[in-house]
Amino acid sequence: MFALKSIQLAIQPLIRCPLNKIVIKTMATKATPKKSVMNIKSSSPPSATSSSVYNPSKSDYDAVDDAIWRSGERVPYLAFATTLKTIEETSGRLKMIEILSNYFRSVIALSADDLIKSVYLCLNKVCPDYEGLEMGIGESLIIKAIAAATGRKVDQIKAEIEKKGDMGIVAELSRTNQKTLFAPPKLSVANVFDKFKQITQMSGNSTQAKKVEMIQSMLVACRECEARYLVRSLTGKLRIGLAEQSLLQALTQAVVLHNNVKMKRSSDKFKAEVAKHSLILKTAYCECPNYDRIIPVILEHGIEALPTHCQLTPGIPLKPMLAHPSKGVDEVLRRFDKSKFTCEYKYDGERAQIHYVGNGSVLIFSRNQENNTSKYPDIIKRMPNCITDEVKDFIIDCEAVAWDQQQKQILPFQVLSTRKRKNAEEGDIKIQVCLYVFDLLYLNGESLVAEPLSKRRDLLRAHFKSVEGEFTFAHSSDVNTLDEIQEFLEESIKGKCEGLMVKTLDVDASYEIAKRSKKWLKLKKDYLEGVGDTLDLVVIGGYRGKGKRTGVYGGYLLACYDDGTEEFQSICKIGTGFKDEDLENLANSLNEHVIDKPKSYYNYDESLRPDVWFDAVQVWEVKCADLSLSPVHKAAIGFVNDDKGISLRFPRYLRLRDDKKPDMATTASQVSEMYKNQEQIKAGNDDDDDEDDY
Ligand code: ATP
Repeated sequence: MFALKSIQLAIQPLIRCPLNKIVIKTMATKATPKKSVMNIKSSSPPSATSSSVYNPSKSDYDAVDDAIWRSGERVPYLAFATTLKTIEETSGRLKMIEILSNYFRSVIALSADDLIKSVYLCLNKVCPDYEGLEMGIGESLIIKAIAAATGRKVDQIKAEIEKKGDMGIVAELSRTNQKTLFAPPKLSVANVFDKFKQITQMSGNSTQAKKVEMIQSMLVACRECEARYLVRSLTGKLRIGLAEQSLLQALTQAVVLHNNVKMKRSSDKFKAEVAKHSLILKTAYCECPNYDRIIPVILEHGIEALPTHCQLTPGIPLKPMLAHPSKGVDEVLRRFDKSKFTCEYKYDGERAQIHYVGNGSVLIFSRNQENNTSKYPDIIKRMPNCITDEVKDFIIDCEAVAWDQQQKQILPFQVLSTRKRKNAEEGDIKIQVCLYVFDLLYLNGESLVAEPLSKRRDLLRAHFKSVEGEFTFAHSSDVNTLDEIQEFLEESIKGKCEGLMVKTLDVDASYEIAKRSKKWLKLKKDYLEGVGDTLDLVVIGGYRGKGKRTGVYGGYLLACYDDGTEEFQSICKIGTGFKDEDLENLANSLNEHVIDKPKSYYNYDESLRPDVWFDAVQVWEVKCADLSLSPVHKAAIGFVNDDKGISLRFPRYLRLRDDKKPDMATTASQVSEMYKNQEQIKAGNDDDDDEDDY
């Protein structure tokens, strides 16, 4: 599949040309390639190999001339580390994307085989999320490795980390103190990535010494800023302020420019090409979030070929469809005015995307595409009882809900959350789970996402069997009058559900991967009282507690996420809704993520400065009385008012959302929409028909 695989190994000139027409001249090939097609410049070696001359932020960056390595060579880790350093020193997101795209352009032009590894290193990953291998080596191991590599004392290193608050910087400074007799081999992106992968695959105490040795061997070889990024990657906190969506954008830009060497970044043509291709790439990534599959297709066939090569596949989790909040039955009827729709109970559990791969293996993924298979051995065991003989493979969308076997009724989400999260043994399971299935996305070799819900539902009911307390179709009713919906909503609440999900059935009723779509409306009982939906917010700071709260935090600073600027914008201070044990547990877990200064991508007002800053790691679900314009908070600034943000009035903590990552928090545009809805409702007018991504 990856035709370029052998290319870099053989020392042959790789010719720069359109990706889908990459021309490689082997020694055996007679003809000299035509200049116009190849545009090759790589025959002369670059004049220097130091980061002081690698400058991926150059406005007229040339993928070949400005690189610090030659065609066919492995990408030096120094080029990668320098790219991260340059990005870190840049504040504008567009410029950051440009810098990264320049680095990718050189990788594509000179060493395309290293593109996958470069992408993973930028994201601080060693494999797709769903494979579950995560960077995040314990600090003490890394400190030992720094000590071994530099001859410094562990205590001295610890004290310096305490002072500087960044292990990466300490590692970098430690390196410059060291003198070596002869230089060890230079690090390459490929060998650093391979070592990272090996390290994350090792488990158990007996492997610790081996890990230290591997880290030490890399540190010894570090030059300039390499140690900083090597160590930060190992700790799992690379955080250069560039999220995955920006990386996809940078990759698109790199591919477009590689295929159109003469195109100017400022031209309309470039912008149009990038817009078109980035949509294709982002869509493909939602269906198939796996760079090991996507990048070879891009290199071999181009971005446009992704829809035919990277489709929905059992075994690879897709980003789920999400629903829009709605404030009442009136709104539902107005929105679905002419379309046929169904109402389903909205169960309060945990989303489970279940894949049956066809060889008997069942995989269960969370809303975040994490592999939850080992959490649910009971579901896996029962699966064969729930499918008919004709089923060969499938993907279904369900809610896993705690179930009381004696009373034969649903239990609250809090009960489910006490289940063991990984490697559960079937015999030890105390909390039983019933699956409520609400969608069928793939069946017997065919993707069904483009089919209307009515067809997906018919196929679901025809191919699966309901088993009480184990596997049941989401309770639904195709009602259509205000009274009927109201009655069904009340029934759902009595049935211990959160409310209803209302979904279009025939027209405009496809499954929208990775979208928060208005084809699905959620009608929660809470909406009927408060502001609408709850918000999922990121904790960025803490205020030390006094009196009864001495020793824990008395309040916190919360932020929403602006997915346009990729910044966390303060939205409220919060101090209510916490039980005593919440205060204790949250303080303990957040204390592991204290940082010495706010990240460059935190947008807040000085008057709100907390006593302690946290890395953006935790998401909390929060309820509030309403939203108001704020002169100090920055949430959704520029959406409703150029100078004012939006803040929450009377926020209350509801629960920790450990199934959400910070970039899945409520976005600035959702905050502004909630604010506008509330204002429109006050004014007696709440029409808004757009659909947006999440
Ligand atoms: P969101 O997922 O919309 O960001 P959230 O995670 O806070 O927000 P909710 O707002 O509570 O979730 O609503 C959507 C979730 O409801 C789905 O992700 C799914 O887990 C759950 N759910 C329960 N019943 C159904 C159903 N019948 N159809 C679809 N989703 C359902």
